[in-house]
Amino acid sequence: MAMQIIDGCIACAACEPECPNQAISAGDPLFLIDAARCTECVGAHDTPKCIDVCPIDGCIVVDAALAESREMLEQKYQALHA
Ligand code: SF4
Ligand code: SF4
Repeated sequence: MAMQIIDGCIACAACEPECPNQAISAGDPLFLIDAARCTECVGAHDTPKCIDVCPIDGCIVVDAALAESREMLEQKYQALHA
């Protein structure tokens, strides 16, 4: 599943440079995660970096509507970095 940013985001931008897939961008008013580029950090880190650096608990969550297996996420990461 890709992550999504929900209400509570204070647009601090801390997450944007930490994403290994350049999936995060500034939105209005919330920052946005491109689901086509988010691998939940599979392929790069053990945990989602955006959540690790976000100062607001609970404003980055998995998008349950976008179910992807770990294998699919690994393939997505490889395709993005080919
Ligand atoms: S979970 Fe990882 S890949 Fe997905 S948006 Fe956050 S930092 Fe980027
Ligand atoms: S780190 Fe958290 S609060 Fe800051 S822009 Fe990203 S999602 Fe929003």
